[in-house]
Amino acid sequence: MAIDRFGRNIHYLRISLTDHCNLRCIYCMPEDQIFRPKAELMQDDEILQLTRLFASLGFDKIRLTGGEPTVRANVVEIVRGIAATPGIRSISMTTNGLMLARLAAPLKEAGLQRVNVSIDTLDPQKFQRLTRWGKLEQVWDGILAAEAAGLTPVKLNAVVVKGYNEEDVIDLAALTLQRPWQMRFIEMMPFAGPTDIQTGQIITAAQIQAQIESEFGPLEASGSYDGEARIFRIRGGQGELGFISSVTVPFCAACTRARLTAEGVLRMCLLREKEIDLLTPLRAGASLEELRQLILDAVWNKPWGHGLEDGYIPLNRAMNQIGG
Ligand code: SAM
Ligand code: SF4
Repeated sequence: MAIDRFGRNIHYLRISLTDHCNLRCIYCMPEDQIFRPKAELMQDDEILQLTRLFASLGFDKIRLTGGEPTVRANVVEIVRGIAATPGIRSISMTTNGLMLARLAAPLKEAGLQRVNVSIDTLDPQKFQRLTRWGKLEQVWDGILAAEAAGLTPVKLNAVVVKGYNEEDVIDLAALTLQRPWQMRFIEMMPFAGPTDIQTGQIITAAQIQAQIESEFGPLEASGSYDGEARIFRIRGGQGELGFISSVTVPFCAACTRARLTAEGVLRMCLLREKEIDLLTPLRAGASLEELRQLILDAVWNKPWGHGLEDGYIPLNRAMNQIGG
């Protein structure tokens, strides 16, 4: 078991498969973002070696992310390898959904259990403006393919940005009236890249909830969390709503996560710059024991929480270079 100095059991690893992406969402990266050469990224066998190492330390939950994980070559075989790793009991993916119409069934067959699909609006024009060129229809087809393949319960993520999609939260929330989906609204967080948008155009989870309640009446609180999301329901709805208020109401005390970037660097807090390189020692022939110790030390020193309230913004990476 990997325990930090505050007694938190860190057992959830988010692995970024690539920093590359087939979209350029305005709140994630600049349009001219430069991606890393593939040779600098973890190779397939390195991802599986590191997964086995984390699993041997008690990590049992994996989420694949990016960049866009589905643009990674061999993504299906990587999923298969991770799913077959002893000790891994949960494997999910966060994706923009563009490739899911083709990949949902093979990913499910390889062992993927669930997906979170990002969809910030149901308006095709606004979707294009937010993603710079994305086609909403393709994402929608991807969501339906994920549901048909049994990658369920389907969870949808929306980042809400002032001037772009704040009114759209009502249509998104309405999806849960007829469908057993979980629609999650995320407060925008600040990183390198589009920092001005991220700090200047944030809509808080409380504002999003108020807007949804102005249309549907008071939401029913479940009183529970799903990961970092506080869970609610529209009265009579089939699905759920989740609010992720990382900026205004952090959930750091309950955080059990670590992140492995696509180039094999361990980041113990999404919103802190400190990182521990694992790929360089792995490639230099470090022993399993040495690598295990690097991870255990990093876990022990996991920061208590982020410092956004004190004006601290992590600027060493854009969001796509970390893995959300
Ligand atoms: N490309 C995939 C996707 O978009 O779902 C996975 C990677 S993306 C970085 C993971 C999640 O982070 C997505 O739900 C995305 O909307 C969210 N995200 C990106 N930039 C963000 C920001 N500045 N603040 C909060 N969430 C953000
Ligand atoms: Fe790509 Fe996801 Fe970032 Fe959008 S949020 S640019 S889909 S990595």
